[in-house]
Amino acid sequence: MKPAAFRYHRAHDVTDAVGLLGELAAAGEDPKLIAGGQSLMPMMNFRLARPTALVDLGPLRRDPALNSFRRTGSSLTIGALVTHRAVELAELGPDFDVLSRAMRWVGHLPIRSRGTVAGSVVHGDATAEWCLLALLLDAVVVAEGPRGPREIPAAEMFHGFYTTAVEPDEVVTAVRFTRPSPRAALTEFARRHGDFAIVDAAVSIDAERGGRVVLGGVAPAPVRVPEAEALLDGGVPGPELFAACGAAAAAAIDPPDDAAGSAAYRRRLARTLVTQALHEAWEKGGTR
Ligand SMILES: Cc1cc2nc3c(=O)[nH]c(=O)nc-3n(C[C@H](O)[C@H](O)[C@H](O)COP(=O)(O)OP(=O)(O)OC[C@H]3O[C@@H](n4cnc5c(N)ncnc54)[C@H](O)[C@@H]3O)c2cc1C
Repeated sequence: MKPAAFRYHRAHDVTDAVGLLGELAAAGEDPKLIAGGQSLMPMMNFRLARPTALVDLGPLRRDPALNSFRRTGSSLTIGALVTHRAVELAELGPDFDVLSRAMRWVGHLPIRSRGTVAGSVVHGDATAEWCLLALLLDAVVVAEGPRGPREIPAAEMFHGFYTTAVEPDEVVTAVRFTRPSPRAALTEFARRHGDFAIVDAAVSIDAERGGRVVLGGVAPAPVRVPEAEALLDGGVPGPELFAACGAAAAAAIDPPDDAAGSAAYRRRLARTLVTQALHEAWEKGGTR
């Protein structure tokens, strides 16, 4: 299938992109940014999205701030245009290597080579690995718009089906991960390798700051599961506790019932995946 007709614009820098979005909207167009195009183009081809103008962020890849990793104190900032593949290949150190390890679950190599971190969190698929990781590691989405710069905590980012807090006239410039975690893991189940997950789970075990249990595919947006987190923080790490957390997560959710899987199936997946992810996270942490 082919997309509906659209005008094509190339942005030279972030200010130019914000300006173009504003000018096009004022002229009655329905503009959209395009980064890797790995979500937007399929949606346009299926006519699920019909922007009348695209503003291409591709030329901005030359800007080191948008295409690099930066460590500041205990935080890791990833430029908006960094690809999934670049994260997969990066040496991020034990505190953030859950990000690199999680990338193996994102689509296939060509998709990972073009798709970007910012594109993923703005698109806001309920099972997207980046959305779960944002909640897991207290990410802050940094955006630039006509009203100036803005920071959106992950907890306020995901509003529902493909709906996020980023406004149509804003450009995300980076995603900052503020909660390092050497004991963290993401795992998932999809029918075929490279497909979006039916359910995915991201967890961290952290005796000092509290553990995290995040699920995708069980609600219109990724969710934390406080019932499982409370159990995790109150118990002695090991198979019994991890199984109990999986059971608590499954009991706490009210997943959708659709063609990809019934609610009962998703609940069973959630139980298994949370338990598995906790085992993986614990083993990854070594003696720390
Ligand atoms: C076959 C297939 C399988 C896939 N499997 C997975 C998977 O398993 N897991 C997964 O997470 N993803 C998967 N994807 C999607 C892929 O990860 C995309 O790369 C990602 O969702 C979007 O990133 P992008 O750079 O391609 O964004 P684009 O498609 O270019 O844009 C997506 C949305 O984000 C907006 N946007 C992009 N960049 C910015 C920015 N800097 N500021 C503001 N708005 C912006 C666009 O306007 C658009 O609304 C798959 C895609 C395909 C085609």
